[in-house]
Order: sequence, then C-alpha cells, then structure tokens
Amino acid sequence: MNIIEKLSQFFPAEQISVQSDQLEVVSHDESTLPPVKPLAVVWATSASEIAQVVKICYDTGTPVTTRGAGSALEGSTIPLPDGLVLDLSRMNRILHLWPDDLQVQVQPGIIYDRLNDHLKNEGLFFPPSPGGSGDIATIGGMVSTNASGIYSIKYGGTREYILALDIVTGTGEVMKIGNRAVKRSSGYNLVDLIAGSEGTLAVISSVTLKLAGIPEDRLQSAYKFNEEIKAAKAVSEMCRYGLDLAAVEFLDRYLIQALNQLKGYGLSEVPCLFLEFHGPRAVLEANSALADTICTELGSSKLEFGEGHRPWEIRHWATDAVKHLKPGYSIIRNDVAFPISKLPEMVEFCHQLGNENRLAVFTFGHVGLGLLHALILARKDKPDEWQMAVEMSNRIIKKTIALDGTISGEHGIGLGHKDLFEIEHGPGVELMRKIKRQFDPKNILNPGKIFDL
Ligand SMILES: Cc1cc2nc3c(=O)[nH]c(=O)nc-3n(C[C@H](O)[C@H](O)[C@H](O)COP(=O)(O)OP(=O)(O)OC[C@H]3O[C@@H](n4cnc5c(N)ncnc54)[C@H](O)[C@@H]3O)c2cc1C
Repeated sequence: MNIIEKLSQFFPAEQISVQSDQLEVVSHDESTLPPVKPLAVVWATSASEIAQVVKICYDTGTPVTTRGAGSALEGSTIPLPDGLVLDLSRMNRILHLWPDDLQVQVQPGIIYDRLNDHLKNEGLFFPPSPGGSGDIATIGGMVSTNASGIYSIKYGGTREYILALDIVTGTGEVMKIGNRAVKRSSGYNLVDLIAGSEGTLAVISSVTLKLAGIPEDRLQSAYKFNEEIKAAKAVSEMCRYGLDLAAVEFLDRYLIQALNQLKGYGLSEVPCLFLEFHGPRAVLEANSALADTICTELGSSKLEFGEGHRPWEIRHWATDAVKHLKPGYSIIRNDVAFPISKLPEMVEFCHQLGNENRLAVFTFGHVGLGLLHALILARKDKPDEWQMAVEMSNRIIKKTIALDGTISGEHGIGLGHKDLFEIEHGPGVELMRKIKRQFDPKNILNPGKIFDL
C-alpha cells in the first residue's frame, strides 16, 4: 500500500488531495526560489490527525513539510517532490483565553491579524507583528520562524511570548513542552529550541502565548536626513539615550523614490526615519521631544506626509515599490542583523556595493534592533547579472557575520541562506544536527532546510 492509500484509510477525501492545481498552491512560498510539487497535501484539523500523518510518514520514511500560510521568504515552506505537505490552515481556533493572566492558547493555523482582532475586545494584543504579512501569516508559522517586526524594539519577537507548545516529534510522539508560568528557571528551554526551527524538529499543534495590554496612546513622527549615515547615526543615538521607542523604521532615498513612483506620495527623496511611541500622553511627548532634539542635531527636519497618508501605510508598500520599479527585474533580498552601532557602516557598505556593480540596492528595516533589509534588483534572464546580485547579497551577509551579526534577523534560513549557515555557526551546526536526530531520527520533518543532516 502506498502512502496515499494509507492516508486515505484515515482521512476523508476533502482532507487529502493529489490534484495538480492544489499541489501547485502548496509548491511555493513567497521566496523567489523554484516551486516543487509534493506527492500530496493533507489538511489536518486536530492534534491527533497531525500525529496520525507524522506516524504514517515515519513508518514509510516520507518527508513532510508543515505549512501555515506559505508566506515565508527563504524557501522554508517549499516541499520535497517525494514528500507531503501537512497544511494546518484549517486549525484556526482560539482554544483558551485567560484575560486576567494576559495569556491565550491557539491552534497553529490562526492568522496573526484575526487573533489580534479578537484580543482587541479584551484590551490585549500579541505584539510581534510581521508587518506586511500580518493579514496572512499564521501563529504556527510565526513560532517556527521566530517572526518579529516593526514593534519588536519595544516588545520583542515571537520567541519572547511563547509559554508552552503542544508538539508532535518526528516519530509521531505527542508532548506538551513549557507551561503557563511567565517566570521560570526549570531546566533546558525546549520551547526556545522549537521557536525558529522551521518545522525541522516538530510539528506544533497548539501555542500558548503571553500577551500585552493595548497601549493607552500612540504617537507617530517622521524625519528626513541629508545622508543615510546621519539617519543611521540618529537611531544609534536614540538607543544610547534609552528612548522608549515602539518602532523605528529606516528607509533609504532610493526606496522613497520607488514609493513615490508607485504611489505618488510626493515625499522628499532623501533618507527617512519613521518613529512610533506608545504609552500615556505625557510620556509620549517627552520621548518624542528627545527624539526631535537628537534628529535635529544631526541636521534632520520633520517629514510631512500628504493628506490622509500615514507612515506605516507608506512603509507597507516598500517591497511592492521595489518589485514594480523595473519591469523584468526580480528581487534578491536579505534580512541581516548586527549590533546597532554597525548600522551606518552596513548601510554605506550596501550602497557602495550597488554603485560598484551598477545594480540598484534599496536598504530599509526595523533598524532599532539592528535589522536591515538590502533588496537588490537584477534580471533572472541575464545569468551574469543575476549571479553578480547573488554575490553582492552574499558579501553583505559575510560582512554582517564578520561584524558579529547574523544571516537572518527575522525570515529564517530555509533553503535561501543554507550555504552560508556554517560560516555563522561553525561547529555549532554539528551540535544542531545531533539535536535534530533526537527529535527526528529518520529526518522526515522538512528535511534539507536550514542545514543538511
Ligand atoms: C509581504 C511580506 C512581509 C513580511 N514581513 C515580515 C516581517 O516583518 N517579519 C517577519 O518575521 N517575517 C515577515 N515575513 C515573512 C513571513 O510572513 C513570516 O515568516 C511568517 O511568520 C510565516 O508564517 P506562515 O504562516 O506563512 O508560515 P509558512 O510560510 O507556512 O511556514 C514557515 C515555516 O514554518 C514551518 N511551520 C509552519 N507552521 C508550522 C507548525 N504548525 N509546526 C511546525 N512548523 C511549522 C514551515 O514548515 C516553514 O518552515 C513577510 C512576508 C511577506 C510576504
């Protein structure tokens, strides 16, 4: 009996498909990597169904790639041709809400924005917004990539909010790890090991999260600078002065040009910082005044937006603006992160590389945490140009590692950055392989992602 026949014994027709159009849907994520159609897709609706699928995969040695929304950017959700996709998007319920404890337990397929829509009624929210993908990304996917976003400078990333997980290991064993205690010092932190593991150690069947209270008030402002390096310095200075920033987003002049071109915002085409503060009004105003002093001393002035435009709406269009700038061009992206003081050096390095190689480079990101996206535009149908862009991106990553930074601050490694992983982690990768074998002895859980066994 083949794997499809085995699965069909347990799952009704509406939960399993081998139809080409449905395999097409789950063959890719949001990266530019080539899609791969799996053997079949299975939609699980409960923890026991997840365990059933993994047990069958374990018995037959079949690879299984878990899928939330498929919005990952580094190919971590791309399946194997001889494997299954275990789609959890139908497991989208809130299981328990403890408003007095600021905690919630959810199924993994619930979408980030839907969860927050619900929590709003209790004056609560789950802060690590994945920005532009908040309307599609699932909580299971966010845990598995340790997603973070614009508000992570104040609130932290997904990892900081996970209290407990129900998981299924690579042998089909079901277990709960963690508990609802917020403060703990009790042995190894298995929860942290699963966060960011990109579906390679276990399938998550439920997530218990810590929450935050919706802030009393918010204040947004934006500044324009003459040079990228001054904007980067301002961020460094604001952090040094201990400013209570809820968000600080950097956009270089080339990105502003692209945004003007896409949306006609009419913004001054110079590097900018978008800021947001959270808290009581008096605190907001004090923080904002200090930010103003720091920015002004670096020669900056306030950036005014046109009627009806807000900073985060403008920032939302960043990737689309680059994508649509030059027809026929594709994006090579990265999401490097490094110590905050290195920001000016990194921004300058990216632009210098672009100038030397005559390729357009756009830098932006949640720079308060030292996270920078460098998007490079190149033509895939011109192999030399595409290769040059890949090499530029690799040089940016290698420079980051040399500055004691990381390949990925938020998108993960997947297939996209696997080649450089060993440079960052050295002998640590062998230790990771040993850990993987303990969770997944037959290497069936999303094999080939992050590193090869
Ligand atoms: C426009 C856009 C903007 C983005 N902005 C950000 C951003 O600001 N910050 C950021 O961090 N990311 C960002 N992302 C990337 C992406 O949205 C996040 O990585 C998100 O967390 C992925 O969630 P998902 O449900 O789509 O996961 P998927 O893509 O379905 O899966 C991602 C990984 O998690 C694994 N996985 C999924 N569910 C489970 C589970 N239940 N158990 C075990 N493994 C699982 C998959 O196998 C895969 O390895 C952006 C993406 C887009 C398209």
